[in-house]
Amino acid sequence: MPRVIVDHDRCIGCATCYQVCPSKVFVIKKGKSYPVNEQNCVMCRACITHCPTGAITIMHREEEAPIKRLYGG
Ligand code: SF4
Ligand code: SF4
Repeated sequence: MPRVIVDHDRCIGCATCYQVCPSKVFVIKKGKSYPVNEQNCVMCRACITHCPTGAITIMHREEEAPIKRLYGG
């Protein structure tokens, strides 16, 4: 099962992840994104690709290894 992580130091609450995610993983609360339905993540990486601040990391829960992360970190 995927693990979806949002770095709240980077997240600016733009809701792009909420808009692009096909699985409704994210909710936006008080200007930050929360991956409340990460069990539904299909690892399409759309959120990673579109997040303007590189705040999102998707990991395989079993391996705890990042599959992709943009903009360093
Ligand atoms: S796309 Fe990135 S910056 Fe925008 S709400 Fe989602 S995590 Fe935050
Ligand atoms: S990888 Fe795809 S399914 Fe998973 S949280 Fe990001 S946009 Fe949603």
